[in-house]
Amino acid sequence: MTTAGYDKADRDHARADRAQALCRAVSELHARGLCLGTGGNFSVTLGRDPLSILCTKSGLDKGKLDPLCDLVAIDANGAAVEAGGKPSAEAKVHAAIARNTDAGSILHTHSVYGTLLSLHFAGKGGFRICGYEMQKGLEACARTRTKCSCRSCKTRRTWTRLRTRRKG
Ligand SMILES: [Zn+2]
Repeated sequence: MTTAGYDKADRDHARADRAQALCRAVSELHARGLCLGTGGNFSVTLGRDPLSILCTKSGLDKGKLDPLCDLVAIDANGAAVEAGGKPSAEAKVHAAIARNTDAGSILHTHSVYGTLLSLHFAGKGGFRICGYEMQKGLEACARTRTKCSCRSCKTRRTWTRLRTRRKG
C-alpha cells in the first residue's frame, strides 16, 4: 500500500469512529426525549484544513441513525461534498459554528422545552437564564454574571465582596 493509501485508510477509519460516536450520542439524546422523530441535527468535525464536517441527513428519525448511511460530509459552507443524501436544513449553522469555534461536535436538539421557549421568545430578542447553580461551571456565564441583576446573582456578588474584604 502506498503512503497515500495509508492516509486514506486512516481518514476512513477516523471517519467511521466519529460517525459511530456521533450516532451513539444522538441515540442517547433521543432516548432522553431531546430529539424526538426527525427533530434536531448533529455533526462531528472530520478535519480542519480544509474544514470537513459529517452532518446528519435531512428528515431522518434520530432514534435509529445508521453511521454508514445517515450522515453526509459537508464543507465550510454547509454544502454536501459527496453524493448520497441531502444534509440537514441547518447544515449552514453547523458549518458556521465549526468555522468560528474549535467545536469538535455540534449537538442541536429540538427538545420540547427548548422549542417552546424559542418560539415564545423569538420576537422578544431572546431570554436570559440566570441564577442556576449549574451555570457557575459555564465559562460564558462566569464572565457575564456581573451584568446580571437577578436576586441570586446579586446575593452571590455581595457574599464574594464580603469574603474578599474579610481576607484583605
Ligand atoms: Zn433547529
